[in-house]
Amino acid sequence: MNKNEKIIVKIEDIGVTGEGIGKVEGYTLFVKDAIIGDTVEAVITKPKKNYAYARMINIIESSKHRVPAKCPVARQCGGCQIQELSYEAQLDFKNKKVRGNLERIGGFSPELLDKIMEPICGMDEPFYYRNKAQFPIGTDKDGRIVTGFYAGRTHQIIPNTDCALGVPVNQDILQIILDYMNECHVTAYNEETGRGLVRHVLIRYGFKTKEIMVCLVINGDNLPHSEKLVDKLTQIEGMTSITYSVNRENTNVIMGKEIGVLWGQGYITDYIGDIKYQISPLSFFQVNPAQTEKLYGLALEYADLKGEETVWDLYCGIGTISLFLAQKAEKVYGVEIVPQAIDDAKNNAKINAIENAEFFVGKAEEVLPDYYAQYEREHGKKAYADVIVVDPPRKGCDETLLQTMVQMRPERIVYVSCDSATLARDVKYLGKHGYQLMKARIFDNFSQSVHVETVALLSRKIFN
Ligand code: SAH
Repeated sequence: MNKNEKIIVKIEDIGVTGEGIGKVEGYTLFVKDAIIGDTVEAVITKPKKNYAYARMINIIESSKHRVPAKCPVARQCGGCQIQELSYEAQLDFKNKKVRGNLERIGGFSPELLDKIMEPICGMDEPFYYRNKAQFPIGTDKDGRIVTGFYAGRTHQIIPNTDCALGVPVNQDILQIILDYMNECHVTAYNEETGRGLVRHVLIRYGFKTKEIMVCLVINGDNLPHSEKLVDKLTQIEGMTSITYSVNRENTNVIMGKEIGVLWGQGYITDYIGDIKYQISPLSFFQVNPAQTEKLYGLALEYADLKGEETVWDLYCGIGTISLFLAQKAEKVYGVEIVPQAIDDAKNNAKINAIENAEFFVGKAEEVLPDYYAQYEREHGKKAYADVIVVDPPRKGCDETLLQTMVQMRPERIVYVSCDSATLARDVKYLGKHGYQLMKARIFDNFSQSVHVETVALLSRKIFN
């Protein structure tokens, strides 16, 4: 097939990034925004030998899974990938994706998965769920200051202050910032020239506490007439923290390293379950607190703690899971690579009066093996853990880490995963080394996008 050629194709599958997949004469087409069950007219944009990317130009017959997008810029904006797929079909897609990886990469049979997989846990309200949003600020071709989200794979800003995934108050805050910039002649950053002041706006919202944080990322040392901005922003109910972060680098990293307080405190507080967390502009915090609470609840259930256990929480971030576990265990050790996250974790332990959690900074694949070796040298016996929880980034766990985990002979391993392909790979390794997959449940923490979380329980086989 050739570039710009028009074809008609029936969409029969969904690809990993949410695109529709169809076949024409054995040739595979990937069509963005086309929904499984649609018949569409599309134009070839990037032809390859056996497949091509195509752009949908016309829906000839609409899929029964197709729903109207809530957001007028759903197709242009890179934030959502599957807003036009009904929520039920989104869950079905995510379920199949995880199961597919467990079958193909993990080697599990469909019959076994039928037995051990719990039903996918979807969201009660699949919109307005994110507690965090980062809006880029720029200038459009007519010189107007705009904010919104980047289009997929580019840094072109699609103007939109009314994101359907974020909280409604984001819109009021952004309007105040745009008005302030216009009135006070504050410039927007330009990525190409490296000039201009305001780069991004970070907004965080505590769903339980209703506290709001606004942080402006600036390419300079201060924000002129910031008192005017503060005056307007503090009229918004719940405003708790107004800060700025200096980032002068020519980089895709959004936040700078330092935070300056313009008004209020430098952090907001929110809860997951009964545990209180202080969240600063630079802290990592789960973006969907309602689903996270359910997910951690199940992780705790899988850990099945009675109060005397030693537990490790690897890749612990700000100690979110560690503190959840500490309520029920004798001792919890958390390991995390980012030092500031460990500072937050220690602080979070303190404000919750949790004294049985200890935290280490470093790579899990170094800290745990080192601890294991040192323990044997000092105590003349092997270090033991009752339960090990891991929550790695997409690339999954290093084999050296999995090896040490197995050596520590925990009764149970609870694996929290944001990438089911690496989950399947790691569970397969653990399966070969004495650990059996007992249960798993998928959580949809990111509706309208293709991402998903999975929690799996593995138990030590009796004969091991
Ligand atoms: N369990 C936490 C965070 C999970 S995200 C929560 O639920 O909030 C994964 C975390 O792993 C991130 O905080 C990241 O900084 C950390 N990380 C990435 N690579 C790591 C490594 N090799 N060793 C330890 N932590 C790592």
